[in-house]
Amino acid sequence: MTRAVLSIGSNIGDSLSHLRSVTTALGDRVVASSPVYRSAPWGGVEQQDFLNAVVLAEDDAFDAWDWLRFGQRLEEAADRVRVQRWGPRSLDVDVVVCENVISDDPRLTLPHPRAHERAFVLLPWLDVEPDATLRVGDVDVPVAELLENLSAEERAGVVKQGVGDGSW
Ligand code: ADP
Ligand code: MG
Repeated sequence: MTRAVLSIGSNIGDSLSHLRSVTTALGDRVVASSPVYRSAPWGGVEQQDFLNAVVLAEDDAFDAWDWLRFGQRLEEAADRVRVQRWGPRSLDVDVVVCENVISDDPRLTLPHPRAHERAFVLLPWLDVEPDATLRVGDVDVPVAELLENLSAEERAGVVKQGVGDGSW
């Protein structure tokens, strides 16, 4: 069995539908899904806000690479167009962690190298796994602590949308 934490985001078209395409494809592999958050975009590129969520998923037959490929197929299915780094995308699926796998392969870096500094990952992750820890460098740090260490501006840019029970 492997359990993965997936961070999903969209800021093109019907973003909520793009996010839903992930939970639909996961089906009963979804252990928990966070509420949807609205996030100011990263990287200074002028673009529509992102909708983001975190999904905790489990599949007996999946290793970390299977989770990556699963996400990439969904990105393709959402007709992802990427013209600019950090630019708009119809769907982005990132593997934040998969069990305790550590990898520095650029095609699949685990834990995700930027997760610890992104409020749009940490906030929804805490909703589904309040005791989660994330390895940063050589240290396992509680996700709650990573969040506290972010700037007030970074945290304020990520706002919970609508109902908070994850039923989107
Ligand atoms: P972003 O870092 O903004 O999510 P992209 O989605 O465009 O950027 O990055 C795509 C590349 O990142 C892919 O080629 C993929 O192989 C690689 N990658 C490395 N580690 C991961 C990971 N943990 N999850 C998802 N993609 C990853
Ligand atoms: Mg990605």
